[in-house]
Amino acid sequence: MSQVDMVSHQGSHAVNSVSAQALFDKCQALARNLWWTWHPEVISVFRDLDPIRWRQLDHNPMALLNEFTPERLETRAAEMVLLSRIHHAYRQLKKYMSNHQTWAATHAGVLGARPVAYFSAEFGIHESVPIYSGGLGVLSGDHIKSASGLGVPLVAVGLFYTQGYFRQRLDENGLQHEEYLDTRVENVPIEPATDPDGSPVTVNIQTRNGPLLARVWLMQVGRVRLFLLDSDVDGNKPEDRSLTSRLYGGDERTRIRQELLLGVGGVRALKALGITPGVYHLNEGHSAFAPLEVIRSRMEEDGLTFDDSLREVARQTVFTTHTPVPAGHDRFTDVDIEEHLGPLRDGLGISYDQLMGLGRVEPQNHGERFCMTVLGLKMSRYANAVSSLHGHVSRRMWANLWPWRSEEEIPIGHITNGVHTPSWLAWQMRQLYDRYFPAGWIYRMGEPEVWQGIYDVDPGELWETHCSLKNLLVAFVRRRLSRQCRRRGEGDESVEAARNVLNPDFLTIGFARRFATYKRANLLMSDIDRLVAIVTNEHRPVQIVLSGKAHPKDEPGKALIQEIANLRHHTNLQRHIVFIEDYDINVCRHLVEGVDIWLNNPRRPLEASGTSGQKVVLNGGLNLSVLDGWWAEGFNGTNGFAIGHGTAHVSDEIGDQRDAESLYHTLENQIIPLYYNRDIDGLPRKWISMMMSSIGSLAWRFSAHRMVMDYTKHSYVPACGGLSCDMTKR
Ligand SMILES: *Cc1c(COP(=O)(O)O)cnc(C)c1O
Repeated sequence: MSQVDMVSHQGSHAVNSVSAQALFDKCQALARNLWWTWHPEVISVFRDLDPIRWRQLDHNPMALLNEFTPERLETRAAEMVLLSRIHHAYRQLKKYMSNHQTWAATHAGVLGARPVAYFSAEFGIHESVPIYSGGLGVLSGDHIKSASGLGVPLVAVGLFYTQGYFRQRLDENGLQHEEYLDTRVENVPIEPATDPDGSPVTVNIQTRNGPLLARVWLMQVGRVRLFLLDSDVDGNKPEDRSLTSRLYGGDERTRIRQELLLGVGGVRALKALGITPGVYHLNEGHSAFAPLEVIRSRMEEDGLTFDDSLREVARQTVFTTHTPVPAGHDRFTDVDIEEHLGPLRDGLGISYDQLMGLGRVEPQNHGERFCMTVLGLKMSRYANAVSSLHGHVSRRMWANLWPWRSEEEIPIGHITNGVHTPSWLAWQMRQLYDRYFPAGWIYRMGEPEVWQGIYDVDPGELWETHCSLKNLLVAFVRRRLSRQCRRRGEGDESVEAARNVLNPDFLTIGFARRFATYKRANLLMSDIDRLVAIVTNEHRPVQIVLSGKAHPKDEPGKALIQEIANLRHHTNLQRHIVFIEDYDINVCRHLVEGVDIWLNNPRRPLEASGTSGQKVVLNGGLNLSVLDGWWAEGFNGTNGFAIGHGTAHVSDEIGDQRDAESLYHTLENQIIPLYYNRDIDGLPRKWISMMMSSIGSLAWRFSAHRMVMDYTKHSYVPACGGLSCDMTKR
């Protein structure tokens, strides 16, 4: 009998304690709404139930509870004095779910009857829910968390990946290996989504080559319902059953089929669920097929022509583009498009050429492949990039779509990305802010006023809190590194060295992200002698923690990781530079909470926004970044450090050289002296003022609350109003 059977068996028969069952049910309810992921007081309840298993189980409360019987849970909760905390958390959740006095109630009432449908190929909500790979997913997760907090009526649509993204392991040569683990459904807080009659929802999409089926799961993220399509169902061909098993894993055909499921399947699923969205928000091109299905169903139901229906649907559609390089956009062949969109095209009553034209910059150019971003732009009246600079880049990149307009008139605006404050703010910092900020500030974290409290914080206290977080980071790094060494079968000596790596007193730099070459993870290594001199300085030492995955097919990215991982054999650097395997939300959280400096040095302007530096801001770390993405608008000269001057270079080589020089120079002449300049109390006063300036000027602005308020005001409400708010229709 498996653990789960045992629990449910005992749950149904052996339990004689009503209170034990009631307690167990409350814990289940807490675990089943991802609201807990941004409530430290609830996280600590789960952790205290069994701290060791909590860590071993990737902080997954579903998995943890599956190891408990109601009786054992009750006993354990009593031992650990958790009972009142569980009851309190449960009451808080109930209160949150039934509270209607939200920001959106006064600012977005029009969305009440017809919610926003937010489509994204990935959602990064927590490390225990592996349906994300990186930045795009975490952004979607943060978006829906803030929508929940603000009370914006929104349902989200994504895919359920049964293996998620890969686990990264480095071998003794530093080479990346990918491991895929099957997710156990009973360890994920999902349940079958049901229609108004209570039957599980499935969708069926016809292709020219047979049907594609999917079931639909429901995941509750605070007030937001996230619907996830899963192709692992009876009736699908074997290769289709594994279609949604991995993120970005397959070939082009897998990809178009995944996107067909997400877009067309997603719209069908909402309809079957009885949900009529007022706005469709396509987060990146992956879901750009969705409006085609909406157009088709409008034609069918309202008797509209294709053109009229397209016009109506576009007025309701918001499209966000995230990719500043032309090669980064999904493109499909006409054969793939006709196979997968053919039956839908019949329903739209348009020709093959017309359909292909919707995905081409020049509709008649038969040499052009079908581009999902082009489709997204043509299907939406509200299009935006994700930072001001990215807006410029996008308007230039897609100018040919509107050849009669000047560049400034290209209808792509921008809404800069932000992060979900309560998810990324360390608990210790949160407690400090709670004492200085206005009451209820956490509900108003997108407003500048509440953050002005930072200037009243006692500098010594801020510094101490930061140092305690840095200590936790060092402990985390030691734990992970010694585990890495043991797994590779290295000797006791090397495990012992890993246990003692890093020093909490040293200036600590973090660098973590996807290892794509444009992010230039090795820029810091471009002059090894200079780097050695910097980090091993006897009086002012520096240490660097790196982490990140390369896409399985990205060989240059993997070579970068190898180059860095092998620095651990470099006698002078090994104690100063460490690489943590398997970057994920958990690793990210430890890093952004504990570092002094967050380094970001992409090749400008290839970083559309970037968000990890925003997470660092919340916790008092300072940014050292190329003036790209969000930092190009965030940096004001006193709230962090810039690499370069935001200028263009004649070639990548020259740009790399100049940026490397600027990076070294800024470290040597500004950052290191500032950090080690201590007053009589041992405090780096000027550094601390910079921390305050960073928090005060950036935290609200680059919050997901501000971002979702912007989307609501500038896109959602107008897009819904475009319907002349005809709530009675249908
Ligand atoms: C925040 C986050 C990112 C975003 O990275 P950027 O390089 O800043 O875009 C990526 N991965 C994870 C796991 C994150 O938490």
